[in-house]
Amino acid sequence: MRTPLFAPATLASLALVTLTVVGQAHAQDKVLNLYSARHYPTDEVMYDTFTRTTGIKINRVDADDAGIVARLKAEGAASPADVVLLVDAARMASADAQGLFQPIQSAKLNAAIPSHLRAAAGPSGVTWTGFSTRARVIVFDPLRVKIEDVATYEQLADPKLKGLLCTRSGSHPYNMSLFATVVERLGDEKGEAWLKGMVANMARAPKGGDTDQIKAVASGECGVALTNTYYAARLFKSTKAEDKAVVDKVRIVFPNQGTQGTHVNIAGAAVAKYAKNRDHAVAFMEYLASPFAQDYFANGNNEYPAAIGVQVDNAALKAMGGHHFKADTIPLAVVAKNLTKVQQMLDRVGYK
Ligand code: FE
Repeated sequence: MRTPLFAPATLASLALVTLTVVGQAHAQDKVLNLYSARHYPTDEVMYDTFTRTTGIKINRVDADDAGIVARLKAEGAASPADVVLLVDAARMASADAQGLFQPIQSAKLNAAIPSHLRAAAGPSGVTWTGFSTRARVIVFDPLRVKIEDVATYEQLADPKLKGLLCTRSGSHPYNMSLFATVVERLGDEKGEAWLKGMVANMARAPKGGDTDQIKAVASGECGVALTNTYYAARLFKSTKAEDKAVVDKVRIVFPNQGTQGTHVNIAGAAVAKYAKNRDHAVAFMEYLASPFAQDYFANGNNEYPAAIGVQVDNAALKAMGGHHFKADTIPLAVVAKNLTKVQQMLDRVGYK
């Protein structure tokens, strides 16, 4: 399963760390300032291994996505941030539009990460890159909803589901990203009609997070809802009786398997606009695409690895089904392009 931590390279790496600590001037140079909206216990091993193998010490600032963006804006050109880790393409795109990232060119990243999981390439390279993926799936109550009526995202607007649909806020990045890709496919007119149809099907006004939607389906308040896979996986791997009871009552569908595939989003990283340690930042991004780091980055939050050819053995994801689902490969860069338009549509159709 996991790569052994004590690989033969360890001794050489330790020697490198010792040298760095002894030479104080050099120690100051070998630093990476990471602003992270991801905090999982397994991340520590991933960071420690980077430091051991490169001699680059990681200083971490942990905050939520909004907190990190606010901090970067407040710090401006004086910001010590080198790498920024955020969750969801909509958040990446929004921070990018606010000028908080800089483009980089990396042949390693281009080879390792599929192009649809990163920002559109500009003349100076690419800003944000995805390092893990999560699918946005449909969860439903099999006693109230037929599986063939929830096989696609488009069907969520079908009047058959009237009074059954629950979602978190339409403006939440997870929904904005999904809606941006569906609107891109359907076109503006049909896309807006789809959003309007979902509003007409709501069992209640949008509220809560993804886990709340799953629990509301289990309790009977809702018949169908949307969730990111890792929230469902957490419930599937939980040993608590109340979580097992929830899992027993719901079913998961990976939508659009017969067409474009299920929408997947990313947790990703970008080099900060005013990075002082740019080379270290690029080295860290390339490290995140390595099979070793991918295992920790993806598994730590029950996500799928983003790098081509990397497989992760995750029992919770397998238990949930769809381990080999067909994922939509529409470039997530369309999210960046459609964000403003989709928010205007949500306002018009009254999707709170
Ligand atoms: Fe989340």
